[in-house]
Amino acid sequence: MIITVASFKGGVGKTTTAIHLAAYLAQQGKTLLVDGDPNRSSISWVRRGDGMPFDVCDFDEAEVASAGRDHIVIDTAGHPAPAELRILAEGCDFLLIPSTPDALALEGLFNTLEQLNQLESYGVVLTMVDSRKRATASQARTYLRASGIPVLKQTIRRLTAFERAALEACLVKDVRDRFARIAWGEYKALGEEIAANG
Ligand code: ADP
Repeated sequence: MIITVASFKGGVGKTTTAIHLAAYLAQQGKTLLVDGDPNRSSISWVRRGDGMPFDVCDFDEAEVASAGRDHIVIDTAGHPAPAELRILAEGCDFLLIPSTPDALALEGLFNTLEQLNQLESYGVVLTMVDSRKRATASQARTYLRASGIPVLKQTIRRLTAFERAALEACLVKDVRDRFARIAWGEYKALGEEIAANG
């Protein structure tokens, strides 16, 4: 399957999401992560580390590199315009939009996503959800759903294990942290939910 990851704001976990979904899909088949973000964070993460279970390339190499792949994850440039989002959504099985639950991050989301209604396979995943502020996440979910914007059931918690994974350029399941398994489990569950939806 092809999953495209797009966000309206930096620092919401777009790269972390793309990396971990690629790792999840790599358990099921040959997977390629295409880094379409000019800041090249995904490529840098994969190339700094070693032994990622998937390959990575930039947008220009994608056509050649995608041959023979079972799964492709595309990490896109930030701040897509609605028209661009539509094109992105049409080119994949599922368009995933990570967002933190805070209102600021959601403001841009509402305006843009409301224009995407009728689009089928897309959804928002709430990221960096603070376990002490679960009410904020459930409020954000309610607002999004009330606006007709699909939100995935699975949320991704704010856990330092994810920061460690980025620093150490590895997957969260490989960091030495007592929440590492829980953190990886959240992306695994997200992957399963998308596979069931996409
Ligand atoms: P983006 O691609 O949207 O800019 P990143 O995935 O690069 O976001 O994440 C931004 C920062 O937040 C990084 O330092 C990353 O390690 C950290 N981060 C990402 N997801 C989480 C999370 N669920 N919990 C805690 N920190 C996170």
